Amino acid sequence: MSYKTTFCTYFCSFTMNATIIGSGIAGLASSIHLARKGYQVQIIEQAPSFGGKLNTIILGNYRFDSGPSLFTMPHFVTELLDPDLVQKFQYFKLPVLCNYFYPDGSQFHASSQIETFIDEAAHFFDEPKSKIQRFLNHSKRIYDITSPVFLENSLHRLSTYTAPTGIKGIANLWRLDMFRTMNRALESQFSNPKIIQLFNRYATYNGSNPYKAPATLHVIPHLEFHYGAYLPKTGMRDIAEILYEQALRLGVQFEFNSRVNRLHVENQSSKPRISRVITEEGKEFKSDIVVANVDIKIVYQKLLQKSLPPKIKNAENSSSALIFYWGIKQKFPELDVHNIFFSNDYREEFDAIFHRKTIQKDPTVYINITSKLVGSDAPEYGENWFVMINVPHNSGQDWKELVGIAKEKILQKLSKLLNVQVSDLIETEAVLDPITIESNTGSDKGSLYGSSSNHRMSAFFRQANFSKEYDNLYFCGGSVHPGGGIPLCLLGAKIVNKLIPEVH
Ligand SMILES: Cc1cc2nc3c(=O)[nH]c(=O)nc-3n(C[C@H](O)[C@H](O)[C@H](O)COP(=O)(O)OP(=O)(O)OC[C@H]3O[C@@H](n4cnc5c(N)ncnc54)[C@H](O)[C@@H]3O)c2cc1C
Repeated sequence: MSYKTTFCTYFCSFTMNATIIGSGIAGLASSIHLARKGYQVQIIEQAPSFGGKLNTIILGNYRFDSGPSLFTMPHFVTELLDPDLVQKFQYFKLPVLCNYFYPDGSQFHASSQIETFIDEAAHFFDEPKSKIQRFLNHSKRIYDITSPVFLENSLHRLSTYTAPTGIKGIANLWRLDMFRTMNRALESQFSNPKIIQLFNRYATYNGSNPYKAPATLHVIPHLEFHYGAYLPKTGMRDIAEILYEQALRLGVQFEFNSRVNRLHVENQSSKPRISRVITEEGKEFKSDIVVANVDIKIVYQKLLQKSLPPKIKNAENSSSALIFYWGIKQKFPELDVHNIFFSNDYREEFDAIFHRKTIQKDPTVYINITSKLVGSDAPEYGENWFVMINVPHNSGQDWKELVGIAKEKILQKLSKLLNVQVSDLIETEAVLDPITIESNTGSDKGSLYGSSSNHRMSAFFRQANFSKEYDNLYFCGGSVHPGGGIPLCLLGAKIVNKLIPEVH
């Protein structure tokens, strides 16, 4: 807090209030930025605790992270922390990014060491090392071009394009491979369908379809291969815990179990502004700045009672997920922290998700097992399996029926590939589906990442981090620029911080 603000806070009773709606990762990060800027920050959260999708489930002797399981770019978290909290926030770097199981029974361990990955992938997939190296170099190049323009700044401010990095980015747009799909680009480079499937999978990191999404999304592997994959020392929830601790230390106030249902608009100045944030119980929070960390569709339709701008209304939702949290009473040495059991027909699987809006009969199954590194997450004899498949967003399907069918298919597939009757090993179970994802966190139709990136202009169709209509309204989180996933949500909070004025 600046001297001027501190002085005013105590002697002139002058404070600037910033109200943040929602305590997801981007809301927590924004609260830290704004408190450091001198605002008196309050977060209004409908749930009994902070973190949004970054939460925990405890079932008997098993603990599970309920949402995100893959942690990349930890520096976006540590840069928000005081030095002693940086020391406190510990995480493991994973030696293996993912264990891949193919339907024919073959297995590939993707090393996080880039040279080892290239050597082993060249051997396993029978592809020249030079091609794999070229693909990863290309991934890095896309990151270097897009990061300063698309990820670290507002896409909706002229200054982004007139800055030297913006000019360079625009001059290099042709290198981004925007006019082919991810799959088409991979097919032109590799001949083994297994390596094509492996790299196509990165589309799911933001809920997209590799058979539709532009090849620009081949930027995603760079995040894992260059920056690494991590797991916080006692699980993903640590990320939310440490940001919460930092926020409290900076004086951020939390109002839990409080659902915001209206923003009061004041029309006294040339541009309307939000003067108060009002909850369902009728509590009012006077606000000089409002940051919405809830799904953008909630902001327009519910909090402002307005219709959606066409570009948001027409954007295709990202995929959702169906997750089984299984306490498994056996250990599986052949499994790692991240494991993928691929489907036979990947194109058909995405067609089911994005076009037919159902679950295909042989879905790709992802198993995350934090107890591989966090011993306390499962009893000595067992493992905590977070078993997830990608599914369409909710559009009125019979989820009870789909969940039952999917469970059967998943058990059949895993039992066959692991050579054991998995259903006999399940000690405890909980299920999360698109309906519960929406009811827990407010994400429209249960989509994990807001809108998909299936269109080459998707980045431009997302809501900007500021409102053009209301003077003091800002947006952060997975449904607005630059998109979903922990790193992008943290970058969104950083952009919001750049846009919000200092306290005078
Ligand atoms: C199953 C699953 C797996 C995922 N896997 C990964 C992964 O491996 N890696 C990764 O990086 N990302 C992953 N993601 C995506 C990632 O979790 C999200 O992009 C990110 O956590 C979203 O954060 P957010 O800031 O947008 O807020 P959210 O987490 O969406 O939180 C929004 C908050 O707002 C609150 N809220 C909503 N409406 C109101 C209201 N009216 N009043 C008050 N409060 C309200 C909600 O209760 C919630 O706490 C996954 C997501 C899910 C669900």
